[in-house]
Parts: sequence; structure tokens; C-alpha cells
Amino acid sequence: MPPRVRIAPSPTGYFHVGTGRTALFNWLFARQQGGTFVLRIEDTDTARNRDEHIEGILRALRWLGLDWDEGPYFQSQRSELYQAAIEKLIDIRAVYACDCTAEQIQQRAKERGGPPGYDGHCRDRGLEPTAGRMLRFRVPPGQSGFHDLVRGEVPRDNKDLEDFGVRKSNGDPLFILANVVDDADMAISHVIRGEDHVSNTHKYLLLWDALDCGDKPEFAHLPLLYNDQRKKLSKRRDKVAVEDYRDEGYLPEAMVNYLALLGWSPGGDREILTREEMVAEFELGGVKSAGAIFDERKLQSVNSEYLRALPVDEMVARSQAWLLARWEPIAGLVQERARTLGEVYTMTDFLYRPAPVVDPAEWDKGVAKNPAFASILEAVRRRFADIEWEAEAIQQAVVAAGLEAGVEQLGKAQAPVRLAVTGRSVGPPLWQSLELLGRDHTVERVTAGLERLQAAALSG
Ligand code: GLU
Repeated sequence: MPPRVRIAPSPTGYFHVGTGRTALFNWLFARQQGGTFVLRIEDTDTARNRDEHIEGILRALRWLGLDWDEGPYFQSQRSELYQAAIEKLIDIRAVYACDCTAEQIQQRAKERGGPPGYDGHCRDRGLEPTAGRMLRFRVPPGQSGFHDLVRGEVPRDNKDLEDFGVRKSNGDPLFILANVVDDADMAISHVIRGEDHVSNTHKYLLLWDALDCGDKPEFAHLPLLYNDQRKKLSKRRDKVAVEDYRDEGYLPEAMVNYLALLGWSPGGDREILTREEMVAEFELGGVKSAGAIFDERKLQSVNSEYLRALPVDEMVARSQAWLLARWEPIAGLVQERARTLGEVYTMTDFLYRPAPVVDPAEWDKGVAKNPAFASILEAVRRRFADIEWEAEAIQQAVVAAGLEAGVEQLGKAQAPVRLAVTGRSVGPPLWQSLELLGRDHTVERVTAGLERLQAAALSG
């Protein structure tokens, strides 16, 4: 039987290079074996999901050329399946209701010393599994070790597993339940995912057995990614969004080549290989379990090799296409304001430079004209964190931030934002510009603006 694999990202943030690597390894395996590559969006965490991230997942996969054969499936549209599984678990008494609060659980853990976690308090209380109560899996005695294609045997004694939740008190299925139900329903034969899921796999297998799902998939947990200081790659510290690399002008084929080397190597000291070579030579069993270093300088050197290998006219065509893609979505708005072709570029360069070009004289003038400059940026930064990221909501947030800082004129409220984010005092309409730049970059630049003010205050 040809394998069925999946990439199952959660739309809670930008598409991460680690997810890109995992998607690539699944894709390579599927293509090599004549299998099926499924895309499943794990959007059960309604509080943290965002539509912009769903779009981002699809765009990043397309940019990398990792075409999927089925999906996207959305877990948010499959709740009946999870509900049925939960009912089955209730019927066979594999789960029980629990009404402990997080504080109570913590308090008891503190009192007994030892590891934190749930102590089975409600196991035999016989609470009704009514709405409003969390459901926990009754972990049986025994072993739930498994064989991993990358890591070998991963043993686990069930006494080290807590009775984990499968349904939240609000009725939503928890990650692990939806994950198991879907892998079974989609007949996934190989679960290839990040090492951070190893400890979930023991629970996964217990649920799989309880739900009587049949033949188990094989598992391959891919090594974690570290930065060049050997620290776990993190959203806060490191540049981890695949689309940031696209926006900086990396070539997708170079990115794919580099991602393939994160945990795998074709042997010898070869590093540059075509997609066809990767498909032919990739081996799950050849993936190393030790952490892999994501090193941007290395990526740069791979990228420059690809760039140099292009015929000059193709390099020109591709760099033009890249530039155009950065600002074309607001071209019509730029046209209304630019007086020359040169201005088209100065009005849009904030979209394709890693940081805005701030003219110190313009900045000082802007700050001097506006006593509320800092308070507006503060308020904007706070408000931008959780609005819907589209022009109208952005405008409303700036208006509200202005009022909060005692500024009623919209022009005055938006000037500090424009200056901090684009580096300029004139440009295309701000709301659409910020929408295009994206939430994270916008907030980053507002923050940098605030830091600039602080530095100036300290030195002045
Ligand atoms: N949704 C999970 C995540 O984003 C992936 C789960 C899996 O691959 O099994 O980490």
C-alpha cells in the first residue's frame, strides 16, 4: 500500500521554518513512494486561531512548491467525528469527568511534592460527563512505548503519564483527541512530525487503542531546530516565518534545498541537490535524531549558489517579479500620490527593506510637532496585538489610540505610526499599507520607534 502522510499545522502563528521542514520531509516521502500528501488544518483552538494564518499556511506551502493531494481539511468542520469519539470513550468508561480547577491541581501537586500534573483526583468520583466538565482519559497500567523510525525505541511506563484531557470543559475536543481521530479517519500510515510531539505519542497510542482504530501508523519524529547559538529556535528570538525569507528575496528552490538538510543529508559532502534528486534519495531512516542548526548564513550561502547559477536574464526577471510582488497589491493607491516613478519606489520601499529607512531630520521634526507621539505609539502597539488584521480595523485602532492619547485629528494620530513603520512622513494610504506589511512587522517597527524615543530621551 502506498503511504499516506500529512502535514497538520495549527493556524496560531506564521508558518514556521520547522513546519516547512516537516512538510517537506512528508512531501518527499510521499512523492518518492507514490503516496498521498494530505493537508489538514488543526484549528480547534478557537481562541488562538486566525484566518490570516490559514492563508499564510497555504501561501507558504505553495511558495515552497509542496503541493498537497488532499485537503485542506479543517478540524473546525469535523466536530461531529470528535463528538462521536468522545461518546464512545464515555460509553466504554475510558474517560471520566473532572471539575478540578488549574489552581486546585497545582495546589495539590505542591502539597505532595514531586512532579506537577494531574493526580487522578476525580477518577473514582463518578461525576456525570455533563457539559461544563472536562473529560480525562483513564490511563491504564502498562507500557505505551513505541518504535520511532528516527529515534528507535521510545519506552514509556504508563505510571509516568497523567490522566490527560480529551475534551475541554467548554465541550471542544482537545488537540490529542482530534489528532488521533483524524489520523485514523484519514488512514494516515506514517506520522512524520516534530520531536516536540514525542510525549504526545504515548497518549496518542493509548487513545488509538481505546478507540479501536486498527493498524497503527508508523512514527518518525524529526529533530528540533536550534539557532546558531544552540538555543531552540523560537518565535520571539529568531526569524522563523517562512514568508519572511520569501520577502527578503530567498529563492524557494534554495529554501527547499536548505530545509532538506535540517536533519537529513544525501551523503558525501554534497549539499546542493535538485528536487528530483531529493525525491529519489530521501530516506526517513537516514534522518538524524540530534537537533539540527538553522543557520541563516548557511541558508544565504545556499541561496547565493542558486542565484549565481541562474542565467542573468532570469535573475533579472525573478528579482523584478519579487520586487513587484512586494508592493503591487497597493499599486493603485501609490499611483494616486506619487509624482514620479522614483517616488513609486521611495513610497513603497518599506515593503521590501528589512527595516524602514528613517530620515533622522524627518523623525525629529515629527516628534517635535507632536507631544503625544510616544503615547500614540504605545496605545497603537497594544491595540494592534489582537485586532483583525485588515485596513478598516487598523484604522479604527489608530483612531482609538489617538483619542486615548488625547489627539482627535486623524492626521495627527497616524503621523507617528507612519513615521515609525515606513520611515517617511508621506506615502500611500496607511491602513492598506500596514495590512500588506503584516501585523508582526508593523508591531516590530512600532516597538523600534518607541525604543528610538527612549534612547533619545536617555541621551538628551
Ligand atoms: N497541529 C500540530 C502542530 O501544529 C501538529 C500535530 C501533528 O503533526 O501531529 O504542532
